[in-house]
Amino acid sequence: MPDKNLFNLLGLSLGAPQRKVREAYRQLAKKYHPDLNPDNPHTAERFKEIAHAYWVLSDPARRKSYEDLNPHLRAETHRHQSTRTYRKDTPKETSRQGPREGKDILVRLYVTLEELAEGVMRKVKIRRRQPCAECESTGIAGGAAGGICPVCKGSGDVPDFTHRSGSRRDSIPCRKCGGSGLQAMKACQNCEGRGQILADITITVGVPPGSDDKEKIVVKSQGHQGFMGGKSGDLKVVIVQKEHPYFERKNGDLIYHCNVTFTQWLQGCELQAPSLNGPIALKLEPRKIPEGVLKVPGRGMPDKDGGKGDLVVKYSLAIPNELNRKQISLLKRLESTKGFSPAIDDKGWCKRATE
Ligand SMILES: [Zn+2]
Ligand SMILES: [Zn+2]
Repeated sequence: MPDKNLFNLLGLSLGAPQRKVREAYRQLAKKYHPDLNPDNPHTAERFKEIAHAYWVLSDPARRKSYEDLNPHLRAETHRHQSTRTYRKDTPKETSRQGPREGKDILVRLYVTLEELAEGVMRKVKIRRRQPCAECESTGIAGGAAGGICPVCKGSGDVPDFTHRSGSRRDSIPCRKCGGSGLQAMKACQNCEGRGQILADITITVGVPPGSDDKEKIVVKSQGHQGFMGGKSGDLKVVIVQKEHPYFERKNGDLIYHCNVTFTQWLQGCELQAPSLNGPIALKLEPRKIPEGVLKVPGRGMPDKDGGKGDLVVKYSLAIPNELNRKQISLLKRLESTKGFSPAIDDKGWCKRATE
C-alpha cells in the first residue's frame, strides 16, 4: 500500500506548488465525485480523502501546520528542491506520515462478587474521538463535496444549451465557478475542521461469569478513532472487584471467617455460614480444635471452564478482648468450681500429664 500522505493522495510529489494541487484535485474530483458514481461506495471514500487532502494543501496556513506536524515531509521537500539528491524516507520516517492508529481507552469497572459469579452486562460511559457525521469526517463544511462547484460538479464546464449544432453537445465554462470546478471551502463548524469530535457515549460491556479482579476485557475498535484511515484503538475495561462484606476470594474459593463461643465449641453446634446463593448450615463437632476449617465443596466462585471453587469456613474460638469487673468475677467463680481448673498438687504445681 502506498504511503497515505496528503500529497500522494492527490498523486502529487512532495512540495507540489499550489497550482498543481488545484489541478490534481479538479481532475480527481471529476473522476470520484459521488454524484457521478452513485453505486460505488469505494469512490465516495476515495473522494472524501481527496477532498480532505485538497482542503489542507490548498490553504497556506493549513498546509504549513500539516508540514509542521510532519517535518519529514517538509525536509524531504527542501532536499528534493535544493540538492536534487532525492532519497526515499527510511521506514521509520514513512510510518509517521501514513495513517495513525487511534489510542486505546482504559476504564475501570467496579463489580460486586455476586456480579462476577453470575456474569453481568454493564454500561460504560466513555468520551472518545470519533467521526464527525456533519462533514463525513472531512473537516469541510458541507462534507467532501463542499469544495466542488455544485453546478458543474467539478468539471468546470456546463453543456451549452444555446448551441444548435445538432447531435454534438458543446460545453461552455461554468459561470458559477469561473471554470475552475471548485468553490471556496469552509471548515465544518461542528468539529472545527478536525473531522473528528469528542463524544460522550455509552458502551455495553459483558463481564463473563468467573472473571477475576484486575482482569482486562478488551472491546476491539471501540477506542479513539484513528487518523487518516488508521484503525481505531480498543476499549480496555479493567475489572475492579468491590470489597465484599463477608467473603475473601482466593482463586476460586470463598473464605468466610467466623467465631464460636466457648459453649458452642465445647458442646458442638450448628454453624450458619453465608454463601452466594443463600445461607448454609454446617455441623461443628464438640471439642474440635479451637481453630479450624470446614469446607463446602462447589459453593465458591465459578471458573471459566465451568468448574466451581469451595466455600471455606474458618472458625476460631472467640476470646473476648476486654472484660469488665463483673465478668472477671463471674469467671473466677467458675474457675473455683470443681473440675474446671487444672489439677495442682499441695505445693501448687501442675501434675505430670498421664495418658
Ligand atoms: Zn462550476
Ligand atoms: Zn465536521
